[in-house]
Amino acid sequence: MTTSEIMPQLPQSILIIGGGVFGLSTALSLSHRYPTHNITLLEASTTIPNPEGSSVDSSRIVRADYANPAYARLAAAGIERWRTTAWGAEGRYTQNGLVLVYHKSSSGEAGRQGQDDGERYTRASYQNVKRLVNNGDDKIVQFLPDRDAIQKVLPRDVHVAESVAAGYVNWGSGWADAEAGVRYARKKLDELGVVKIRTGQKVSRLLFADQKDRREVTGVQLADGSTLTADLVILATGAWTPGLLDLRGLADARGQVLAYLRLTDEEQAKLAQMPTLLSFSTGMFIIPPRNNELKIARHAYGYRNPTRVRFDSSGAEEAEVSLPETAGRPIPPEGEEACRAALREMLPWLADRPFTKTRVCWYTDTPQGDFLVTYHPDHPNLFLATGGSGHAYKFFPVLGDKIVDALEGKLEEDLQRLWRWPAQRTTTTSFVTKDGSRSGRKDMILKEEYARGLKL
Ligand SMILES: Cc1cc2nc3c(=O)[nH]c(=O)nc-3n(C[C@H](O)[C@H](O)[C@H](O)COP(=O)(O)OP(=O)(O)OC[C@H]3O[C@@H](n4cnc5c(N)ncnc54)[C@H](O)[C@@H]3O)c2cc1C
Repeated sequence: MTTSEIMPQLPQSILIIGGGVFGLSTALSLSHRYPTHNITLLEASTTIPNPEGSSVDSSRIVRADYANPAYARLAAAGIERWRTTAWGAEGRYTQNGLVLVYHKSSSGEAGRQGQDDGERYTRASYQNVKRLVNNGDDKIVQFLPDRDAIQKVLPRDVHVAESVAAGYVNWGSGWADAEAGVRYARKKLDELGVVKIRTGQKVSRLLFADQKDRREVTGVQLADGSTLTADLVILATGAWTPGLLDLRGLADARGQVLAYLRLTDEEQAKLAQMPTLLSFSTGMFIIPPRNNELKIARHAYGYRNPTRVRFDSSGAEEAEVSLPETAGRPIPPEGEEACRAALREMLPWLADRPFTKTRVCWYTDTPQGDFLVTYHPDHPNLFLATGGSGHAYKFFPVLGDKIVDALEGKLEEDLQRLWRWPAQRTTTTSFVTKDGSRSGRKDMILKEEYARGLKL
C-alpha cells in the first residue's frame, strides 16, 4: 500500500514551500477542496511574483504540441481554461498559433542527434495535436512540408532559416504573459482567503521528529532560525529543491538563456500577429512582441551551476548539485552568440540590435523531462511538486487539481506513472534531459562559459 492510499483526506495543517506555478496552483486547488484547513504558503522572495523564479517572465508558450499524448491532453485542457476563463483574460493569454519546425541533418554527431530528435518530436507532436485539436477542422493544424510552406504562415519580415526542413502550424496554440498569470493566481488566493501567504520567508531546512531516523517531517526551519510545524509539507521550490533534499539523479537545476530587444512601433506592428516560432532541432524560439519588447530564447540542455550542499534529510556528507545562480549577470557569450545567430537567420534586420536585457532562467530538469509530483518514499508526510523541466507554465490553470489528486492518491494512471518517484535514480547528477525536445551542447558549466567569454 502506498503512502497516498492511506492518506485520502489530507491532514489539517499543511505547509506549501514556494510561490511559483507549482506552489500557487496547489494552493488554489487546496483552497477549494479544503477551505477549513490550516494552510500556509512560504515564499523566499519578498514578492509574489518572484522576478527570479522560473514562473515569472514576459511570456511562456502555451501549446498542446507534445510528443507524449498524456501531456498533450492535459495541455489541451489547460488551453481551454486559458482561452475560455478569467485565467486568460486581460491579455494574460493570446492565441497567435505556433509554428514548430525541424532542421535538415547537419554534420557532427551532436548536430545529427539534435536534428533527428527535432524531427521525431515534431512529427509525433503533429500527430497528437491533429487528433486533439483539429476536431474535424483541418485548418487548425496544418503540416508544412517545406520552407516555402512555412514562410507562407509567417509575416514577410520573419525568415525561415536555410537549414529548416519542414514543420507544422497549430493555430490553436498561444502564449501567456507569465508574470501576469502569477499575479492573477496570487490575487485569486487573496480573494479566497484560505491560504496564509508569507513572503520573504526562506526555508533553510526540513525538521524531523527524530533526528536519528529522519523519517517523519514535522515542519521547516527558516533562515532567521524560527520554525514552523505542519502535518504535511509540500516542496514546490522549483530549481532550488535539489539544495533542500537529496534529488541527485532525479532533478537538477539547468540555466537557459533569454534575451530581449526593443522594437519601434512599426516593428511591433509588423510582428504582433506572428505565430510563435520554435525549432526543436536548435531549441531557439521567438514569441511575438508586446509593448515593443521582443524575446528570443533557447530551450536546450542548458548550463549546470555546480554547488556544494549538505542535505539534512539524509544526513549525508556534503554533495555537489546544480542550483540557480541569481546574481543577475548577463548571459554568457556562448548564449548571446546563439541568440544572435538565430536572429541573423530569422530576423536578420534585428541581428545587431543591442539587447536591452538578458537573463539566465532556471529549469528544474528531470532525466525524462517529467514532473515530480509525489510523496517522498522515505518521508511519508513530505510531498514534492516540482520537476517542471522547462514546460510546466502552460498547465497553470489545471496543474493544482492534478497535484491535489496526487496528494489524495487519485491521480489518473498515466500522469501518476509519469510523475511518480522513479524506481531508480540516474547514476549521474549531471544527467541531460532526454525528453526529445532538447539540443545543443550537453556539458556546459555556467562558470566555464563565463570564463571562456572573458578570454576572448
Ligand atoms: C527560460 C524558461 C522558459 C520557459 N518556457 C516555458 C514555456 O514556453 N512554456 C511552458 O509551459 N513552460 C515554460 N517554462 C517552464 C515553466 O516556466 C516552469 O516549469 C515553471 O514556471 C516552474 O514553476 P515552479 O513553481 O517549479 O518554479 P518557480 O517559479 O521558480 O517557483 C519556485 C519558488 O520557490 C521559491 N523557493 C525556492 N526555495 C525556497 C526556500 N528554501 N524557501 C522558500 N521559498 C523557496 C522560489 O523563490 C520560487 O519563487 C520555462 C521556464 C524557463 C526558465
